[in-house]
Amino acid sequence: MATSAFLQQVNDIFDEAARHTDHDASLLAQIKACNTIIQVSFPIRRDDGSLEVIRAWRAQHSQHKLPTKGGIRFAPDVHDEEVMALAALMSYKCAIVDVPFGGGKGGIQIDAKNYSVGELERITRRFAFELIRKNFIGPGLDVPAPDFGTSPREMAWIADTYAQLRPGDVDALACVTAKPLGQGGIRGRVQATGRGLFYGVREICRDAPLMKSLGLTPGLAGKRVAVQGLGNVGYHAAKFMAEGGGILVGLSEREGTIVNPKGLDLEAVMAHRKATGSLLDFPGATNVPGAGAVIEADCDILAPCALELQVTGENAPRIKAKIIAEGANGPTTPEADRILHEKGVLVIPDIYINAGGVTVSYFEWLKNLSHVRFGRMEKRFDEGAFSRLVGAIEKATGKEFSEAERHSLAAGADEEDLVNSGLEETMITSWRQIKSVRERLGNKVTYRIAAFVDAIDKIAASYKELGIFP
Ligand code: NAD
Repeated sequence: MATSAFLQQVNDIFDEAARHTDHDASLLAQIKACNTIIQVSFPIRRDDGSLEVIRAWRAQHSQHKLPTKGGIRFAPDVHDEEVMALAALMSYKCAIVDVPFGGGKGGIQIDAKNYSVGELERITRRFAFELIRKNFIGPGLDVPAPDFGTSPREMAWIADTYAQLRPGDVDALACVTAKPLGQGGIRGRVQATGRGLFYGVREICRDAPLMKSLGLTPGLAGKRVAVQGLGNVGYHAAKFMAEGGGILVGLSEREGTIVNPKGLDLEAVMAHRKATGSLLDFPGATNVPGAGAVIEADCDILAPCALELQVTGENAPRIKAKIIAEGANGPTTPEADRILHEKGVLVIPDIYINAGGVTVSYFEWLKNLSHVRFGRMEKRFDEGAFSRLVGAIEKATGKEFSEAERHSLAAGADEEDLVNSGLEETMITSWRQIKSVRERLGNKVTYRIAAFVDAIDKIAASYKELGIFP
């Protein structure tokens, strides 16, 4: 059977990166291989009483760290090699951001919009049941999350199915992440990918020599930003970059692109879209025909946050952005990657820059296993200690802080503060690791390849330490 183009593409990038390492060929082959994949077929009863056979897969690419982790997608064209490719990317992504998981991915071959909520619940619960029966899900085995066509709603169904069939397992909620808050979810998960993108971009913009090499000044403040797609990732990426001083000069959705060199007010644009059903004709902005037009917008930073294959060999030569932050998975084709590299455009790879979601999923898993909300034990204790410190400073200096100053100095961290702090630390540290690999390998190598080398080195170290059992 011919390997699908997507799996081939992932493997090609792996092979190119592997050539920059000195690991044994057989070890590299083991890292590249998808360790396990199951296909299941099961019947569900439709609302009209008929039966339908559903096909689904779950791939576990690498168990060098457990559990394996990755979303479950509902898509009519999902197939085995797609979930294998996506599971491999999850292994590399987790390694890059030091999330101690292997990679996994699942897919159910349906178009979610053709099913009622009740039917979707039966499909999701039956798939969860199949995974449980085959020991393919569990807090220490394999922990799914949402992906295309799935959301916290499906995660709650999976968690409940698991808990029903594993009575007495106190860790049952940790079998899946991105759950609703009331079902063991975590604050900050919804915003995590866009916020992580912002932390990464801000850190990169602080790098004065790197900015100079791109012909830009240091700092995110004043940089002109264009964002494709205003869904979960795009909306939050745009929001946090604007809050960080970026100027939103271009935004796009399915219906088209709007630009305004003076800047667009994101919340006003969202309200306009809600009211009129379209981004277009936003007061003060210019409509540009085509949802893809945003890719060529006159900007410093372009964040494609909608879907794959948006930056292509066709439009890459006309791209004006100096930095591309891949919020979406796979928005740049290999041909575009080559063109952009030659043009000196900095492409911040998806495998790093959109890893905020899995990072905060890791925090959710930790929360579920520790059975306590982050910050619950120490928030008030810290506030007391900080208040005493503030009081001592006031006494020593004879100056009184304002109520607002006192609050900002003495506030203890709640769950969202801690989640954001962990996410910020992760995005900054991971970028520095990728950058140091890139510095070692030289300018001919893209940051995507450097990120893959970073992942391969970390996974190889794990395998070497583990040895082979039996
Ligand atoms: P989403 O469905 O919330 O948002 C996607 C948005 O893009 C929608 O608003 C949609 O209308 C819009 N869109 C579709 N086609 C478009 C086009 N041609 N031009 C402009 N806009 C278009 O999905 P999401 O969760 O934001 O995911 C977006 C991408 O980010 C996907 O590639 C996904 O795999 C990736 N991603 C998501 C997460 C996450 O945590 N949600 C994490 C990592 C990667």
